[in-house]
Amino acid sequence: MNPIEHIRRYQDQLAAWRRDFHAHPETGFEEHRTAALVAERLESWGIEVHRGIGRTGVVGVLRSGRGNRAVGLRADMDALDMPEANGFAHASTVPGKMHGCGHDGHTTMLLGAARYLAETGNFDGTVHLIFQPAEEGQGGAQAMIADGLFERFPCDTVYGLHNRPGMPVGHYGIREGAMMAGCAFFDLAIHGKGGHAARPEATVDPVVCGAQVISAWQSIVGRNVAPYDTAVISVTGFEAGTAYNVIPERVALRGTVRAFKTETMRLLEQRMRALAASIAAGFGATAELDFREITVPVVNSPEQTTLIADAAAAMVGEPHVDRARVAAMGSEDFSYMLAERPGAYILVGNGDGAGSCEVHNPGYDFNDAAIPYGAGILAAVVEKELPKPA
Ligand SMILES: [Zn+2]
Ligand SMILES: [Zn+2]
Repeated sequence: MNPIEHIRRYQDQLAAWRRDFHAHPETGFEEHRTAALVAERLESWGIEVHRGIGRTGVVGVLRSGRGNRAVGLRADMDALDMPEANGFAHASTVPGKMHGCGHDGHTTMLLGAARYLAETGNFDGTVHLIFQPAEEGQGGAQAMIADGLFERFPCDTVYGLHNRPGMPVGHYGIREGAMMAGCAFFDLAIHGKGGHAARPEATVDPVVCGAQVISAWQSIVGRNVAPYDTAVISVTGFEAGTAYNVIPERVALRGTVRAFKTETMRLLEQRMRALAASIAAGFGATAELDFREITVPVVNSPEQTTLIADAAAAMVGEPHVDRARVAAMGSEDFSYMLAERPGAYILVGNGDGAGSCEVHNPGYDFNDAAIPYGAGILAAVVEKELPKPA
């Protein structure tokens, strides 16, 4: 049985639910309505439900047969703090909040997979249906892990997905190893000695010092990171004085750093710190760097990458599965689950029709036609990971 074709039977209901989630967006750790609806629907299919995991997270537990192995399937539920520009009937009813990343679709896809798996029971073992809060930079995955996710719901492997605008509906994309970058944010404060702009000799000018630091940092990717590796350092803010004729006491820089390896991220931090401190010292100023990890890289394990790509190819045909998808500099906190358990993260085509502009755009909309493909691949991976004894 092809799970995609089976799940199409629930398509009208799933699409209606997706539009309802879209109309009622909830941001990080406030997904109370969404979580309640998820829990209610899982229970209606006889699935054991655990609420309040990592604050607003929900975990459903579904067993079939006597197998000891368990698979975790994860979807994110949160929306973004951004106004929606769409005028369609299911547009956001909450001013300033929008499902601009398609997590309304991901939640629906996992519900579709749950219903299919509960109905067919065509697997041997346990499925943990992980509905995660606060993916958009607020640490929802870490919150669930800290709340004992993998101790209370042990998983041998974990799988997640994301919709991809521009990739045709019915297509999948994945790659082994690093698939998305790790991300850090930084703030640098440089303290000099303020004074009259016409008497620089009596000051330690933090503005000139800050400019030197920015230039020097741009040499890190070029000269310290190996050419076969990849990284980005972007300084996105430079706050200095407010008057034409005053050299300020202090300047503040901020920005973001991306890399595909944790070692590279550490190298970037170490070099940024060393250059800022030594340049500031050379100017007679001091520098303080606050470097904060936001997410680790998404790293797909080889075996699970092959397994999910094979499951996709069995449903839609090999030409519709890109197994060497180019890695993206964006980030995703499912990486923390992949750091705990082997697994894989796959992209599901969202098409290029109306609404399928880039995610986080005010005109974006999740494409309901992609629901059976997302739900189908989550269901298929369970059947492949936990086959029924012959
Ligand atoms: Zn997003
Ligand atoms: Zn997203």
